[in-house]
Amino acid sequence: MSIDYEKSLGDLRRTGRIRQLRPLADRTGCRVMYKGRRFLNLTSNDYLGLAGNARLLRRFYSSRNDENLLDGYGLGVASSRLLTGDIETAHQLEERLRTEYGRPAALLFNSGYHANIGILPALLGKGDLVVSDKLNHASIHDGMRLCRAEHRRYWHCDYDHLQEILESSRGKYGRIVIVSESVFSMDGDVADLGRLVDLKKRYKALLYVDEAHAVGLYGPRGLGKAEEQGVLGKVDILMGTFGKAYASIGAFVLCAADIRDYLINHSRSLIFTTALPPVVIHWNLFVFQQVLQMQDQREHLTAIAGKLRRALTEKGLATGGSTNIVPVMIGDNQLAVDLAEEMREEGYLIFPVRPPTVPEGTARFRISLTADMLWQDLEGLAGLLAARMRH
Ligand code: PMP
Repeated sequence: MSIDYEKSLGDLRRTGRIRQLRPLADRTGCRVMYKGRRFLNLTSNDYLGLAGNARLLRRFYSSRNDENLLDGYGLGVASSRLLTGDIETAHQLEERLRTEYGRPAALLFNSGYHANIGILPALLGKGDLVVSDKLNHASIHDGMRLCRAEHRRYWHCDYDHLQEILESSRGKYGRIVIVSESVFSMDGDVADLGRLVDLKKRYKALLYVDEAHAVGLYGPRGLGKAEEQGVLGKVDILMGTFGKAYASIGAFVLCAADIRDYLINHSRSLIFTTALPPVVIHWNLFVFQQVLQMQDQREHLTAIAGKLRRALTEKGLATGGSTNIVPVMIGDNQLAVDLAEEMREEGYLIFPVRPPTVPEGTARFRISLTADMLWQDLEGLAGLLAARMRH
């Protein structure tokens, strides 16, 4: 039977699960205009506060050469990278990523979503297995669904469960790929990459780590959690996106040279889409190099996130994780919708995260801190939230 759109949307409205678009205006750093009012933006993935950093943007644009501005930095190449959409700067960016990460090869994708839906279906076939953390991002699930390999999920960060699956599967499948985010997008907690490396070695699997919420932020050069945890050379497929801390769009994969070649030949989300605009590739190269040195911003972000977590806990609110993504667990969908509206009345731009993005019964606020926030911007937040939750 086909879907009754009206009824389905009515059900979503009734259960507090309806999704809407919300146009913002006038972004100035962590402040935005929404419905004619100014807010502190607690929902952005612009983790280093670079998207609205006028000085950095000016430096980028003024460092470009006027002579070939239109040819070199135009807005569209009107072709896939595989045809005539490839530019030299894309190769310079890949080379820079490759050398900085110390991996054999790097490959750009148009976004983290493109990467995650394009990697597993290309690399795995019938008779192979993907084992994925239960809380991995939707794009990883979609990649698994497009893939002819079988897939299983282990309980979130439960590596004993993962080991059980590997133990019982090793003899039955050809290739096995373990997939995990490094920083989990809705919980702000972190995978134990050392443990995952041990398991992938023991069971002769490949390890695929999605560092979307970690690149730019962790490790001495901001290369991500694999750098911080000292396993950069041991992750077989490391994915990072330019869409969050790098204030841009696009993504990259670090891998073996033959995997790169194989993806170029088989990854449909790379082959069958128009390449990113040159100006974006130029910015990605520029911003990646700048972010290597942004240790002060990384430390500041860690400090304010720690303070906010402590303040929330002191007020008796349920939080978790250890990164700049700070969840506040609410539970009920409608309560989360109502509370978010009350917080917006107070000038904090918060939208609730509800199922199916998170598991049933775990509606929450995903408070996302950015390095251009000051502690003064945040110090009233925990008290206000606690007061509203008590009502
Ligand atoms: N992986 C994870 C863990 C994500 O959270 C996201 C986006 N929210 C993506 C991949 C997709 O990245 P992009 O926004 O670059 O498409």
